Amino acid sequence: MTRHASGAAEFLADAPRAAWHDQSLWFFRQKRDKASAIPEWEALRQAASALKTHAMSRLGELLEEFERNATANGVQVHWARNAQEHNEIVLGILRASNVTRVSKSKSMLTEECGLNPFLEASGIEVVDTDLGERIVQLAKQPPSHIVAPAIHWKREEVGELFHRTLGSPKGETSPAALAAVARRHLRDALLNAGAGITGANAIVAETGGVVVVTNEGNADLGMHSAPIHIACVGIEKVIATKDDLGVLLRLLARSATGQPMSSYTAHVASPKPGGAMHVVLVDNGRTARLADAAMRPALHCIRCGACLNTCPVYRRSGGYSYGHVIQGPIGAILAPAVDLEAHSSLPFASTLCGSCADVCPVKIDIPAQLLAWRARTAAAGKLPRGYSVIFSLLGWVLARLGRYERSARWARRFQRMLPATLVARLAGPWTRPGRALPVIADETFREWARREGKRS
Ligand code: SF4
Repeated sequence: MTRHASGAAEFLADAPRAAWHDQSLWFFRQKRDKASAIPEWEALRQAASALKTHAMSRLGELLEEFERNATANGVQVHWARNAQEHNEIVLGILRASNVTRVSKSKSMLTEECGLNPFLEASGIEVVDTDLGERIVQLAKQPPSHIVAPAIHWKREEVGELFHRTLGSPKGETSPAALAAVARRHLRDALLNAGAGITGANAIVAETGGVVVVTNEGNADLGMHSAPIHIACVGIEKVIATKDDLGVLLRLLARSATGQPMSSYTAHVASPKPGGAMHVVLVDNGRTARLADAAMRPALHCIRCGACLNTCPVYRRSGGYSYGHVIQGPIGAILAPAVDLEAHSSLPFASTLCGSCADVCPVKIDIPAQLLAWRARTAAAGKLPRGYSVIFSLLGWVLARLGRYERSARWARRFQRMLPATLVARLAGPWTRPGRALPVIADETFREWARREGKRS
């Protein structure tokens, strides 16, 4: 089994959790459908796609414009070629001000760079202040979803975790009571931090400003209560103007959580009086992706999570099965660019149903990129074990209609000849517990159509 398949099998072994995970994400998807039912939705998507394409085509210029404007506003801008440089820059800023405790709002970039373990190994305490992020941090897990990091956790488990780590009453499962426990704990971390680290949903070249969107207000509290604000930003987050920002903000919350607008949107362009503000611009492989014309659109991603919520594979295999910091369909096209060998199974972790492309607010054609990665994986000789044999056989079978129909008949006969216990054992890793391997249909669709006298 491939790495993704074995991760998915592990996730599916807990059938009630898998069903509940599937339903929770589908709930997000349904909310997104309602929120996106505005007449200008497709025009907004088209505009977002165009403005992102434009920004990527002028990436260097826009970043320099951002740096000029941010510097003029009193912000210190740093450039990091890779994760190591990013982490060292952040540590250098903290050490220069003797900071030993930082609050951090949700940032997939800092996850990508492994900032938390790096700072902790250097004696800095890091408290993630997004509730879901704090839950997985206390549990020593990575996020399993880019927008809802603890989507795989049940409230009973959160109650147990808070009892163990934060001293809340045992057996507490009320969401309001658990939120109150988290609120008290996080307020203390936010108000006593020497620096507030945030990510950024966008940076605006025209203003030199950093835009951070949350529903909990934790980023705002973190960056305003601490004397130092450090924003860690992937270079692909730059956009040209405030008007462009308006387009993205209308799409982002609707796509992510089905809200017309997130609760808090901060556009921070300068340090607070007496404080310091740093922006760390991080490449970490992005310019290489920019140079790859076929894969460049993956840089347009605004990390809304809509493609994860709609994906039938992600919903039923869980975030950890992807083995990458970004999960789901977008993760499956970003991860191979980082390490093709380690993530060679991810481009195949898709039915190519196209739902991800349908919901993507910036119109990334994810299925086309998945197919391109499949071809590249095969050309590089990095197909997961057994795939080349399976695909050669399938290609041979599907090349001729008669061959396909004969093969279907043989497969049916073969399945019926096998003892039921053996079929169940063979199918075990690929079926949910308690479910039998689906019986191969008695006839192909074409055979059925012929028998019914229909055109096929
Ligand atoms: S690929 Fe599109 S749908 Fe998926 S997270 Fe990125 S912007 Fe959202």
